Amino acid sequence: MVDRPLTLMAVHAHPDDEATGTGGVLARYAAEGVRTVLVTCTDGGCGDGPGGVKPGEPGHDPAAVAAMRRQELEASCQVLRIDHLELLGYADSGMMGWAANEAPGAFWGTPVEEGAARLAELLRRYQPDVVVTYDENGFYGHPDHIQANRITMAALELTGQTPKVYWTTAPRSAMQRFGEIMHEFGGTEPDPAEAAALAEIGLPDEEITTWVDTTAYAGQKFDSLAAHASQGENIFFLKMGKERFAELMGVETFVRVRDTTDAPLPEDDLFAGLR
Ligand SMILES: [Zn+2]
Repeated sequence: MVDRPLTLMAVHAHPDDEATGTGGVLARYAAEGVRTVLVTCTDGGCGDGPGGVKPGEPGHDPAAVAAMRRQELEASCQVLRIDHLELLGYADSGMMGWAANEAPGAFWGTPVEEGAARLAELLRRYQPDVVVTYDENGFYGHPDHIQANRITMAALELTGQTPKVYWTTAPRSAMQRFGEIMHEFGGTEPDPAEAAALAEIGLPDEEITTWVDTTAYAGQKFDSLAAHASQGENIFFLKMGKERFAELMGVETFVRVRDTTDAPLPEDDLFAGLR
């Protein structure tokens, strides 16, 4: 039918999102012979700097942070055996309301059509069978994640050829457990406001269409996160150790938002109906 390998493309906002959100499926499908393509939209310059310097603090240099995170991203791609890394190179916008949102070149301030046109070029080049990105709320409201969703959906509209499209999600049932473990490893007391915020993330289990078992690849996912150890939130995961991490992060969940295969739901394979 086609003279190219089955292809998975993941579109992420920052260096390290590939590890947290889709490290399991990227590693698993690479091991199954699927060609994997990672598109990272921003340079991650609003992340933590060397020595844990936070953005906005004295000594935080976005260009230096971006250079460090580029190296970390390449190391993570090696761990996950990603075949092609494509960088759109937009500036990291930081969180909602930050001044960096307004800076020239910031991803959040980029017209959707512009980003979509660039991504459409990559869709035409790689012709992925499956595309994965965030939901319309960017999973937890980060502007760059929302923008990644917008440019991806617009690019797919332009090319109109990808058989299966997914948004990453998390089952609400797991978010509660996640909150407990966060406090256990963070050494903090449970906070009702935070618990309420967590309860809004992800989806009720019955709305999740696709549950992919990536337990066998949790070690690789852990190592890819370890490649991004400069970022404070990743250190939290690394403190868990591989075993607890695999228990918590061994299944990756998605909502299928486009499909031409009619593969029955729920499904346990992003490529169901394609091979
Ligand atoms: Zn991110």
